[in-house]
Amino acid sequence: MRFSQYHFIDEIKNNLEKLGFKKPTDIQYKCIPNILRGEDLLAIAQTGTGKTAAFAIPILHILHSKINTKRDDGIKCIVMVPTRELAIQISEVFQTLGKNTRVNTFSVFGGVEQGPQIAKLEKGIDILITTPGRMFDLVSQGFIKLNRVEMLVLDEADHMLAMGFIKDIRDLIRFLPRKRQTLFFSATIDDEIKDLAYSLVKNPIRIQVSPKDPVSKNVDHSVVYVEMDDKRFFLERLVQEYPESKILVFVRTKVRCERVQAAMKRVGVESVFMHGGKEQNDRLEVMNTFKQGIVKILIATDVSARGIDIPNVDFVVNYDLPEHPENYVHRVGRTGRGRSKGLAYSFCDESEKEYLKAIEDYIGKSVKVLELAADGYKEIKDLTLSKNMDLKDIIRELEPVGNKRYGVKKGKKPK
Ligand code: ADP
Ligand code: MG
Repeated sequence: MRFSQYHFIDEIKNNLEKLGFKKPTDIQYKCIPNILRGEDLLAIAQTGTGKTAAFAIPILHILHSKINTKRDDGIKCIVMVPTRELAIQISEVFQTLGKNTRVNTFSVFGGVEQGPQIAKLEKGIDILITTPGRMFDLVSQGFIKLNRVEMLVLDEADHMLAMGFIKDIRDLIRFLPRKRQTLFFSATIDDEIKDLAYSLVKNPIRIQVSPKDPVSKNVDHSVVYVEMDDKRFFLERLVQEYPESKILVFVRTKVRCERVQAAMKRVGVESVFMHGGKEQNDRLEVMNTFKQGIVKILIATDVSARGIDIPNVDFVVNYDLPEHPENYVHRVGRTGRGRSKGLAYSFCDESEKEYLKAIEDYIGKSVKVLELAADGYKEIKDLTLSKNMDLKDIIRELEPVGNKRYGVKKGKKPK
């Protein structure tokens, strides 16, 4: 079925056409009718399969049809997301798909002044995209009124429910009108969180696309056994071999973000980094720089693991393995979006094998191992531009202070 065959308002159809969206993706095809019927939904589908439009299209259609020329006051739909970048990205999707409709979308998030956000809220908006912290603040100060909210969406729902906001979400729901629609979307969910989600709604419909393997089928992912101290040589090598490629590198901590950037700088590789400790303006700038490909390497913590839709990320590198196995699925899902294919490599040190095991248990299969011949491994180390530097100094500088797991460790030689 093509979008042109749906009974959406013309404005939405035109916007879909302009975007080049001809047919719904699987999850869109399955969700849209239920959402249009007003049903509650728990929708699980792999990363990059178009979950945003799966809720944005029917929500815009429903709200446009309800809003008469005379504007009703009050927010009608709240979309909750875990990070500021995601709030911005999702409101862009709503704005693009909702162009020329009667529906106003706006996003609020922490880290910026409240004043301008409040002024905009008071002008009247229909859809609010928001991170939980700032939203609960604004609700408690009386700037967000909930009495007209008919729809609540939790994107990255498992994370939102696990983040410690469940009490706030329950409180919020108590203030919403009795007649409302609740939608949960994610690429991952576990039984405990599923029960939590179900406890918030009455008769949810569950829609799950490819439940067995949560990793996107567009992503070819593998692990390379690399000693902790050698990881930078491998990253350097990847960058040198694919100088035109966009590479998203995940590390475990803020400190390591900065250290890996410094290590890359030393060998002449320009990169930007992103973590939760950055100022909001810097965060925006970093994302734009990487999005536009001005700088091709982004080093990030898990703050960027979820939801971010950056076109043409060629490689995801798990420079450090993720602590939470579901984040493996989300991290590698930053590549291979839509119809594109992507590659993901995980650099696994001996000390991280327990994480790898947890990931394999989580995804229900083993991760392909890239075998390196002993001389291949040595060659990568020998070819580094930093070889004439004092290695000891580099290593000392690279290792975060007070982090035992990543202390200088003489692991076994890789196979
Ligand atoms: P998810 O939330 O499932 O990870 P997104 O909603 O971020 O995925 O969408 C992934 C990409 O797919 C986006 O770049 C989006 O523009 C594109 N996309 C979504 N729906 C369609 C469609 N029907 N046809 C073509 N591209 C689409
Ligand atoms: Mg998403």
